[in-house]
Amino acid sequence: MRIDILTLFPDTVGDMMHESILGRAQERDLIRIEAWQIRDYTASKQNQVDDYPYGGGHGAVLQADPLYRCWEAVCDEVGGPVHTVYLSPCGKTFTQKDAVRLRDTVENLILVCGHYEGIDQRFIDECVDEEISLGDFVLTGGEIPAMAVADAVARLVPGVLGDEMCYTDESHWAGTLEYPQYSRPEVWHGLAVPKILLSGNHAAVDRWRRKQSLLRTYRRRPDLYKTLRFETKQERKLLREMEEEYGQSFDPKKLD
Ligand code: SAM
Repeated sequence: MRIDILTLFPDTVGDMMHESILGRAQERDLIRIEAWQIRDYTASKQNQVDDYPYGGGHGAVLQADPLYRCWEAVCDEVGGPVHTVYLSPCGKTFTQKDAVRLRDTVENLILVCGHYEGIDQRFIDECVDEEISLGDFVLTGGEIPAMAVADAVARLVPGVLGDEMCYTDESHWAGTLEYPQYSRPEVWHGLAVPKILLSGNHAAVDRWRRKQSLLRTYRRRPDLYKTLRFETKQERKLLREMEEEYGQSFDPKKLD
């Protein structure tokens, strides 16, 4: 998979995207992430890429033309179909499901970072396939959201992480939050690791983790919890055990 990021800050983005797991995945040619300087594609002698908003108001708007020229250069280099995303607080909020969808359906992903007051709508109308938001807040630029999307998608590409379990066992893969994690030492600041994790009984550890994961989801994210369905006999037994342990119902339907 290839990811191209259009930005006014390619050095920052490039540095970040070449560290650690993603850096190693690029050395192994599993993914390719490039950052492009939008300013290199302006026709303006003063290297201008933004101008005042028509209709008045404060701030500046990234102009359509430098963005378009930069996007066109990426498309030419890629030479195949592209899927273009504009990172925007007006977009649909990004989730793990979107990361999986982009991994499964897109070979060449272009991420466009806005700045100032945003970008000229005509570029969006002409070149953008979807708008993605990182959440209901406003940042100064699209770089952090673009890096977040690139990271979330790239780590799902086969081979980037050691094992598929590295992400299928995590928060948001199957609608739950992850159980608490512990590492050495056994006691730290007087706080001991739960005994079950030292028992060597893998089935018991798995059951404990599943319960902790459900409990955490129930308490922190009732919106997620109420969509869960316990269809197997084993899962229903687990739920009954939790109800006995905590003296309350964990039936997701009762949260409606
Ligand atoms: N005027 C815009 C508005 O009210 O919707 C906000 C522009 S923001 C200051 C500048 C750029 O940051 C945007 O063009 C976008 O690329 C990026 N950005 C800011 N918040 C974001 C968010 N929550 N998700 C994705 N991108 C965001």
